[in-house]
Amino acid sequence: MTVYKPLPLLLFSLLATLAFVPAPLPAQSASSAGFGYLDFTAQAKIEQKFLAVPSAELAGQHLRILTAEPHMAATPEDRKTAEYVAQKFRDAGLETEIVPYRVLLNQPKVVRVEAFDAAGKRIMTGSNRERVEGDPYQDDPRVVMPFNGSSGSGDVTAEVVYANYGRLEDYDQLAAQHIDLHGKIVLCRYGANFRGVKVYIAEQRGAVGVLLYSDPQDDGYYKGDAYPNGPWRPETGVQRGSVQYLFKYPGDPETPGTASTLDLPDSSRMPAGESSNQPHIISIPLSYHDAAPILRALKGPGAPQGWQGALPFRYHLGPGGVRVHLVSQQDYQRRIIWDVIGKIKGTEHPDEWVVAGNHRDAWVFGAVDPSSGTAAMLESVHGMGVLLQQGWRPKRTIVFCSWDAEEEGLIGSTEWVEQHAKALERAVAYFNTDVAVSGPDFSASSVPSLKEFIRQITQAVPSPLGGTVYRQWLNSQSDENQHRVSKAPPAAEVVHVGDLGSGSDFTPFFQHVGVPSSDIGSEGPYGVYHSAFDNFAWYTQNADPNFLFLQEMARVFGLETLRMADCDVLPYDYVTYAHEIAAYIAAARRKAEDANLGPLDFGPAQVSAARFAAAAEKIHTLQTKPTGDMDRLNLVLRQTETAFISPAGLPNRPWYRHTLFAPGEFTGYAAVVIPGVNEAIDAKDLKLAAQQLGVLTQALDRAASTLDSMR
Ligand SMILES: [Zn+2]
Repeated sequence: MTVYKPLPLLLFSLLATLAFVPAPLPAQSASSAGFGYLDFTAQAKIEQKFLAVPSAELAGQHLRILTAEPHMAATPEDRKTAEYVAQKFRDAGLETEIVPYRVLLNQPKVVRVEAFDAAGKRIMTGSNRERVEGDPYQDDPRVVMPFNGSSGSGDVTAEVVYANYGRLEDYDQLAAQHIDLHGKIVLCRYGANFRGVKVYIAEQRGAVGVLLYSDPQDDGYYKGDAYPNGPWRPETGVQRGSVQYLFKYPGDPETPGTASTLDLPDSSRMPAGESSNQPHIISIPLSYHDAAPILRALKGPGAPQGWQGALPFRYHLGPGGVRVHLVSQQDYQRRIIWDVIGKIKGTEHPDEWVVAGNHRDAWVFGAVDPSSGTAAMLESVHGMGVLLQQGWRPKRTIVFCSWDAEEEGLIGSTEWVEQHAKALERAVAYFNTDVAVSGPDFSASSVPSLKEFIRQITQAVPSPLGGTVYRQWLNSQSDENQHRVSKAPPAAEVVHVGDLGSGSDFTPFFQHVGVPSSDIGSEGPYGVYHSAFDNFAWYTQNADPNFLFLQEMARVFGLETLRMADCDVLPYDYVTYAHEIAAYIAAARRKAEDANLGPLDFGPAQVSAARFAAAAEKIHTLQTKPTGDMDRLNLVLRQTETAFISPAGLPNRPWYRHTLFAPGEFTGYAAVVIPGVNEAIDAKDLKLAAQQLGVLTQALDRAASTLDSMR
């Protein structure tokens, strides 16, 4: 689902974080390849055999087959892709099942937008069909009309207000100008945050509908040539997408915390309208072709300079000059979705699962999102299959997962995690990929304890551009820094691995049950996200014509899984984790001081963080030279992540239980660190901030005691 990363924002927050980091960590990379192995020699041979298998040509075939038809969740075409994936899992020797869930999903019956000028003359009717010159896929009658997952139904006519990206600060700026949103339709451009956040704030401020459009400044001609002449969004391209309030909880709206299995009685599901992760207002996505007449006719104050997009006229805030009529008839039903689960049973630690997953459902053809991920995963599975034929068996159980209904709100993964929450307390990792390949630039996000692990994996995989994936990753990051900021971060030979926010299937694993997780992708110019043009023709023309990056991702994804499944000692790096936690606390303290919030005692949290850091140093030594009971060492290492889970969850969103990471209530995709504390400070709630500091301190104490129990 996620792709629209506000890169400059991420970079600023990185710089802000760096400013509070006491000292850069030494690079462990080169010296510690094979960290977690008593003798890496035998494993290195297995890895070489594995890396030889994933095939660019076969990955390209998978991609062509998976993207032949639109395959939105719960459609017959989605079921066909489930059967294709299941067959490939079985061919490789995985114990495979197709796992159904019954979940609430909307499909559009009628979605209509009309605009009228001040004289009452109709100036626009939409949505118009997505169309460019020569695209071979666009005329498929199964291409779903542009709509938003989780949109409300209704029929409203109202004046319009332009709200830029629909960030909290954008809405606050409108309020400061005394522009009232009650009874209005809000027009937002995509970008900078998760689309559900734009709708969430609009609903809170009294709007009756939201129009979301793709401004050419953000992913169209302002960036470069538009499809079919280049990779960027054409005039008629629309970004579909879910507006579920997934920062409250993801998954089936009717069953937070419970799996929506087929036999779950209706009486165990929430009555319609009571679920807090569903908007109550209409939301409709538009191309800039359809949004432009509305924006052009809009009167009121001129938009601030930063709000001006790339359409050829001055933007105004409204209201006035134009009225819009929205019709949304959404067919909400409990529908069947299908996860595909394939297992390779571990020989030594069968209860310790290494889970690797990617979603399969797409808004339309989904070449990049998500089929590039599925094609790569299938070649990882192919590699495991060849190892199995040669007699290899993993020490831990490997579980490959093809999720359904991710696009509607991480539904297939969330229901599966809720069903297996108990067993997942022993799972040692969840590796995700979603938008696996949109171009050549590798990127990764992960829990701090796996950042070094991911760097090591990428040092063992060749890049199609020459050298290792790691080397190219480092190159692309230093290019990025030079282009985006004049004062580049330190020229350290260590690549930056991001933090996990939300927007893909790692969320239930990491933020609900505390499985150490990561997410990887290979990125490039990509302006057709969630449109009919994210198809095989666009992919081969713009992203990866010879499927060499699919092969690269198959190798990285498979190697993560393989190395984690066979290690002697779990390679979690709690030294880095402790270092980052100290920086988060220092940054929150500075923020509270800047906000003049009043007396807030960060002392106990800092003492506990220091205690955790000391315990992390000790355990690191033990991980390097393990003596004695390694099963116990591994259990302690695993339980340390669980110690960060707070049973009560975050204030107002108890489904999110990680005390260190959550999707931001007002960012959605981007991570908020120590969310309980930071969001209380943002809300200027001194009492809650103090209480949440207590929760954090307890979690750090639990984690330190867990590590110390190894002594
Ligand atoms: Zn996706």
